[in-house]
This record gives sequence, C-alpha cells and structure tokens, in this order.
Amino acid sequence: MNLHDFHEWSISDRESFWREQAYLIHWHKPFTKVLDYSKPPFARWFVGGETNLCYNAIDRHLSTRADKPALIWESTETGQSRSYTFRELQREVMRMAAIMQSLGVERGDRVVIYMPMIPEAVFAMHACARIGAIHSVVFGGFAAHSLASRIDDAAPRLIISADAGSRGGKVVPYKGALDEAIERAAHKPEHVLLVDRGLAAMPRMPGRDLDYAPLRERFLDAEVPVVWLESNEISYTLYTSGTTGRPKGVQRDVGGYAVALAASMKYIYCGNPGETFFSSSDIGWVVGHSYIVYGPLLAGMATLLFEGTPVHPDAGILWRLVERHRVSVMFSAPTAIRVLKKHDHALLTQYDTSSLRTLFLAGEPLDEPTARWISEGLGKPVIDNYWQTETGWPILTVARGVEDTPTRLGSPGMPMYGYDVRLLDIETGREVGPGEKGVVSIMPPLPPGCMQTVWGDDARFVNTYFGSLPDKLVYSTFDWGIRDADGYTFILGRTDDVINVAGHRLGTREIEEELVAHPAVAECTVVGMADALKGQVAIAFVVLRDARLADDPKQRLALEQDLLASVDRSLGAVARPARIVPIPALPKTRSGKILRRTIQALCEGRDPGDLSTIEDPAVLEMILAAVRPQGSREAA
Ligand code: AMP
Repeated sequence: MNLHDFHEWSISDRESFWREQAYLIHWHKPFTKVLDYSKPPFARWFVGGETNLCYNAIDRHLSTRADKPALIWESTETGQSRSYTFRELQREVMRMAAIMQSLGVERGDRVVIYMPMIPEAVFAMHACARIGAIHSVVFGGFAAHSLASRIDDAAPRLIISADAGSRGGKVVPYKGALDEAIERAAHKPEHVLLVDRGLAAMPRMPGRDLDYAPLRERFLDAEVPVVWLESNEISYTLYTSGTTGRPKGVQRDVGGYAVALAASMKYIYCGNPGETFFSSSDIGWVVGHSYIVYGPLLAGMATLLFEGTPVHPDAGILWRLVERHRVSVMFSAPTAIRVLKKHDHALLTQYDTSSLRTLFLAGEPLDEPTARWISEGLGKPVIDNYWQTETGWPILTVARGVEDTPTRLGSPGMPMYGYDVRLLDIETGREVGPGEKGVVSIMPPLPPGCMQTVWGDDARFVNTYFGSLPDKLVYSTFDWGIRDADGYTFILGRTDDVINVAGHRLGTREIEEELVAHPAVAECTVVGMADALKGQVAIAFVVLRDARLADDPKQRLALEQDLLASVDRSLGAVARPARIVPIPALPKTRSGKILRRTIQALCEGRDPGDLSTIEDPAVLEMILAAVRPQGSREAA
C-alpha cells in the first residue's frame, strides 16, 4: 500500500486502521471499542482495553532479549557511562517503583520529575508508568518560578530530583531552585526523593527529603507487579507554553500513546529490535518522552541517553557515540546541527557511522542549507518531522516504513496516517488551495497518542485548541503552512506569540511577566527575532519608570544584567532574552494593543505593513534606532 492509500485508510476507516495498529502492543485485556468519539472533541481510544507502557517497553521483551542492551547512558559531562539490559532495567524500575510505593505513591498520584539526564530519571518515569502514577517531568533548565507553577498545577505527592546537572562542563545545581520552588508553591509535596551524584552540595529537609541510594539498597530485591491500566487512564502530563503566562499541562493516555509510538517506530523511524536509537533531546521535552524513554524500548531497541552537548568535548561527539554504539536511527534538532556547522567539517566523516541509516530532525524549522550540509556531510538521508508537545508524534513527515517517498528540502513532508490535516483561512475557516497560506489544522478526532485534554481544565483544552476558527470544531496547531501541488507542506511560523529558541518553545508572555515584575520596568514586550543559529531569539523592549536610567551607560548595563539575572533565576537561562532594549514607549493601537508583529518586522528588517492604526508612529523610529546599530548581538 502506498502512503496516500495508507493515509486514506486511516482517515476513512479509523476503527479498522487503528485496530490493526493496536496489535503492535500487548493488551492484558482486549479493548471493546476502538474509538469513542461521543463527546467531541474528546477522543477515547481503545476503550476498555488494559495495558501498561512500562510492561510493553520492558517486561514484554524479557522472553526474547532479557540480556540485550535496553538503556545506554553516556555522560560526557562527568565522564561516566553505564549500560542496562532489559532485565537490569526492569530490576531498577521495580526498585524505584517500590521506593515510590513506600512513600505512599498510588495509581493516579502525580510525581514531578525534575532531573538531569541520568538513568535514574528514566527509571523514575517507567516506575510511574508501571504503577499507574502520573509523571510530570519538568525540564532541568527551568528555574524556580517555572517549576513552582508546575508543582501547583500538578499537585504531586512526590518530587524526584538530584543534586545537579552539568552543561558544557559546568555544574548546574538543582536543589536550590527546587527548594525555592517548593517554598513559592502553595502545594507542598509530602516527599522529595534525591539522587546524590556528588556534584553539588545538597541540604536535606528532615522528614521531607530522602536519599535514593540507601532506599534503593533497601528495595534491591523488590518485585513490583505491573498495574494494568485502562487505555484512557493518564500516563503523564507535560507542560508547554502558550500565549498566556500559565503553561498548559498536556495530558496523555496510556493505550493510545503506546500504540501511536509503536506504529511510529515501525512506519516513520523504521527501527528494528536489537538496534540502537539515539535521540539527543532531553527528557524534559516531548521528544525525550516519546523517543528516548518510551518509543525505542517499545520497539525492542536500545535507547541511548546522552548527558552532554554536541560540541563538548568536541564537535565530533555525536558521531563518536554513533560509532561506539552502532546507532541505527538518530534524532536531533536543527539548532544542534547548525552549531556543528561552525566546527571542523572533518569531524563529520572521521568516525565510522556506517550503522546509521537515517537522521531525523524536528522541533523547529529545518533550513535548506543545514539540511543539505548534514545530509551530504554524513552521506545519509535526513528527514524533517513536524509535530508538537500536544501531538506526541509526527504530524507531517515521510513514512519510509510505508513507502519510500522522497523528501523535499524545506518541507517536513506530508500528513501522517491518522491526521486529517487541512490548511484553513484564519478568518473564514475555508480550506485554502495549493500555494496559499493557511493555518495548519487537524480535523478531529485527533489520532491516538495526541493529548486527551489540558490537565484539570477541559474547557481550556476546547477553547484554546478548538476555538480559534468560526463555527468549526477543528484543532489548530497555531502554525502557518503552505502546500505545494504534490502535497508537501511547508511550515511558515507561528500564528500566535509563541517563539521557538533553539527548538525550545517559549511563551513571550511568561518572559514579559517576569520583566515587568521588576521595580524599574513600567511596561514591556518580548518578541521573537530571526537568528541564524537558534532559529529565533527573544528580544525584550522595556519602558522604564525612570527613562533617565537608560541614558547612563553604566546604570543601563547594570539594569540589563539585573533583568537577565531575574529571568535566569525565575524561569531559567533557556528563557533569557538575547537583548534587552529600553525604549521610551511601546507601539500601540489606539485601543492600547501592543503591536508585536510590527516590532518583530522592524527587528528583522522587514516591511512592517499597515501603520495607520498606530497611536504614535514616532515610537517606531525609536525602535529602529535601538535595534539597527547592534544587529542581532546576543547578551548570552
Ligand atoms: P514543541 O511543542 O515544543 O515541540 O513545539 C512545537 C512547535 O515547534 C510547532 O508548533 C512548530 O511551531 C515548531 N516545530 C516543530 N517541529 C517543526 C518542524 N519540523 N518544522 C517547523 N516547525 C516545527
């Protein structure tokens, strides 16, 4: 069957299509209904079926590959590496699960995981999956404020963390931010479980904080049976930024997610049991959930967990790891490749990468020169894939496991099976034709693996994602797209105020809220500006309460540093604006709306379009004067 027919089947007869895919995983109890779509837009997949993500990823393989590698850990930060077979991984997961149970964690309880890229983080996620607890991983690069808001939303019984991570050889302590976050949060977890890596001092709060190592010893021989979960129970929540300052908890099920991932491993990533999959993402992001922690193991592959950066100790490290572990399938992000481009090209070809079949890139637009550079340099196919935290697996790409479709530079590809993708006019909701720009939208029901709802807020799920087009219940990705005559879709950027810095999704509102909390700042706006390396960077325009501060270079620099430090402390360095630009006023419409797109256009040297609605056009001149002389210099 070709990709077109495969896709057609998945949309015209969802039940038979997904029933067939469901056999890729083990069901403890068969489902009675493939899809319950009686309450649009809420879709319930594989109703009545009982399964378990951890069982499918680990236990299921014990009869055939117990002593084969399952989890390989490489840390170029600490110089450590470890490898666990499926049997060893199961034992570690059961130990972790036993510790959790001893701390009162039960089915349905939330566990926040705020950890660096260490095996214990993977144990913790699978341990939750095993006993039916809901994990909520918070990216280790986020700081106290971001963590606190997530703790309050998830209301975890337990938090699992560590003394520190490390980035580029520099230790990044975690415990201070964690303590501050718990202090700020209204919800207090009963316990905090801590992995002590011996990297940073870690004060313990008696009664609340517990050390992992001695507890692991205590539960060394623990046998923790799998808890069979109804397909629609919750496996995890993962927070993502939107247009408000309050992140959304993307909630996923168990059965639909397992089936979707298993299908994607077969049709999209084409991984085989016994091979090694290497995703250089982080467990704090959706790619890490789907394609470090669960997907490869579901397919019987070993997964490589990498603590490090692509250029440390040198820019050949990714390919050295491919050589060392005979990696077959690799997943990374365009920014990582753009970073490599600045280094010695010989590092690309110095290692034996003959095991590698395909490199997948996602998370942000893949520019043509980068795609060409890496594909030609490695001599391997490079496949772009477009998706979101909300969907959990690719919306647009090519599925070489179905048909050997050629890729087209600049386009992630075509709609994947299960996704009824339409490009719609943002005003009318009418479908646009080839070559016309429209909002990338998905006709519900969303396929298995996609978000069930926003954690604790069904109304927000419906209103945010299904409420943007008039009279139509359709899921909006909030991305612009355009389709060519052959059906390849090209992504043209966001329709909302979300920006994408080095593949990290950031809400400009969160950064604005932090800056405006500073006593010297009266008003501010943050926009994304095109950047050759990171795709986009954040530029903050601030109106100071006392404008004279900006006139004195010393005071201005001190204030800039202070503002950047407060973003670092509160949200994390990942959210730090590349520049802070004091201006006397923000460009607004007469009704007081800040004209972000106008500012963005000016920053990028584009035509700002219709300026007739602006209250005070002189402000634009000031912005131009402020951004032009320095170009896109970065403060970071
Ligand atoms: P996240 O939820 O953090 O994965 O961010 C998802 C957003 O990143 C999408 O809505 C797009 O704006 C962008 N994105 C992800 N993958 C791609 C891609 N392959 N090409 C272009 N944009 C992408």
